Amino acid sequence: MEELLRRSEKLTTVGQLAAGVAHEIRNPLTTLRGFLQLQLETEKLNTRHVDIMLSELDRINLIVSEFLILAKPQATRFEVKDVRFILGDVISLLDSQAHLCDIEFETYFDQENCRISCEENQLKQVFINVLKNAIEAMPEGGRITIEARRNDQHHVNVSITDEGIGIPEERIAKLGDPFYTDKDMGTGLGIMVSQRIIQTHQGMLEIRSKVNVGTTVTIVLPLMKEQAIEA
Ligand code: ADP
Ligand code: MG
Repeated sequence: MEELLRRSEKLTTVGQLAAGVAHEIRNPLTTLRGFLQLQLETEKLNTRHVDIMLSELDRINLIVSEFLILAKPQATRFEVKDVRFILGDVISLLDSQAHLCDIEFETYFDQENCRISCEENQLKQVFINVLKNAIEAMPEGGRITIEARRNDQHHVNVSITDEGIGIPEERIAKLGDPFYTDKDMGTGLGIMVSQRIIQTHQGMLEIRSKVNVGTTVTIVLPLMKEQAIEA
């Protein structure tokens, strides 16, 4: 019960996040300002400085765009889509990046339709977040298995399994906390944004992991009720 409470608090205090976002953005802004000041005073900006400035700008951009998804009003446009096709789109989007990292995708999709009511772009964002985490967890490459199966008449299970570094048990509870990241270029907003989006889809997002074995993220979404066939 306590854990449940904690979760829902996490998801409803988006407003408080603004302070966190401001804090996260201040660091790269300070760096940018410092370099510009250096240029003004000494005209000694070199390529390395510009590289750092660009990556700091990218970081600000990433934090702001992930935050915008959280802050967006809830009333989005839901459409009926087949989750297998959405996954297919996301996989082709990330295919070349995965290839560069020596990672191959393996897919198992249900033969039957997996139609859901969803905001396609938001759902894509979730799958991209989860797949990116999977890719980033496998610096040596490997396989990512993506499944979409109807688990009963009313739900489809999407699971994404990697063979990556895994997450220690004591850290699993922290997932979904804003700005919790162990990556140099991470924002620590991906899982939180994803949980939020899945919640607005009346779904569930669950993470299971074993250190040095891998991680499975399971997303359960309600299927469209099929229209009764008229006699
Ligand atoms: P970010 O990717 O920006 O760090 P996320 O919210 O997407 O933020 O993830 C938060 C943290 O959860 C990551 O920094 C990482 O430590 C851990 N994590 C998430 N997915 C995985 C995974 N598939 N394998 C290992 N660790 C993961
Ligand atoms: Mg991430």
